Amino acid sequence: MLDVSKAIDLLLGGAAPERLEEIKALWGDADERAFLSDRTGFLLQAGFGVVQVNEIALRQLWILTYAFSRAADFYALPLLHLAKAQLPFDEGLLAGIPDQAVGDAAFDEALSAVAALAEALSIDEVPLPAGVPIPASGVRSGGVAEQAGFDLACMAAAYTFLHEVRHVLLAKADGETLAPVEEEIECDRFARDMMLGRVDEYARDHQTDPAAVAAKRSLGILFAKLSIVAITPPSQRLGSETHPPVRDRIRSAVDAAPDPAPDWFWLAAAGAAAALTRGLAVREGNQLEPVPFHQFSDLARVLLHKL
Ligand SMILES: [Zn+2]
Repeated sequence: MLDVSKAIDLLLGGAAPERLEEIKALWGDADERAFLSDRTGFLLQAGFGVVQVNEIALRQLWILTYAFSRAADFYALPLLHLAKAQLPFDEGLLAGIPDQAVGDAAFDEALSAVAALAEALSIDEVPLPAGVPIPASGVRSGGVAEQAGFDLACMAAAYTFLHEVRHVLLAKADGETLAPVEEEIECDRFARDMMLGRVDEYARDHQTDPAAVAAKRSLGILFAKLSIVAITPPSQRLGSETHPPVRDRIRSAVDAAPDPAPDWFWLAAAGAAAALTRGLAVREGNQLEPVPFHQFSDLARVLLHKL
């Protein structure tokens, strides 16, 4: 198994540099804290005091976070038109727009690739969907969309690893152990706090708007949560003895966004939510009812609650 501790430090340092020292103080900075496993299936967990991940899980998250970034883009214009015309969100109506069909097909291709990866022996068996770049150095150097997609993918991955780091820390801590569902909620809270709790310091150091930083990171967190939904079998989305319902976890992610959040945050959240609810409805043979809305925040919340 390959030691990827330092690679994760780099990722966390990129996503929330203002917390890196604190993370190091809690999790350490020696080798052998995180390993890349060659197991198949989706593997991203804490176990034996370390974080374990495999290439398949990383590839699935990469594909999905890019798919959500694209969806936020290609749903933006139709959603703005619907809002202006005071029409409900109606997939049947949108499906008639040629560009929309292209975007939806690309999103479905991403969902199919993720499903194929779940069954694959190696990531090489499943080609990257059209529009998803190869995860390699230089991938951020494209246009604005490529940069945003890459940044959001890194933020989503950082949030996901921070959740697992919290599991590792809890396993090592003395004292009361939490019930499994409570522990999941605590790990989500910890990861959110690391990503969002001190954005003011980051914004001050970089002379930028704290609400914009928080909104971008919140979008990364939401994309991470939505990626997990896309990977979770339908029967487990409502929760289990070990995991809270996905919609509760998504709501916590959305509630942590800055208030008020910039309009683009809610438009992007609504677009990603629309793409996923539509994509899963198609895969699972469900009908999506039209959703009347006045604000994108309402539409995002209603669509996310359907997951
Ligand atoms: Zn967990």
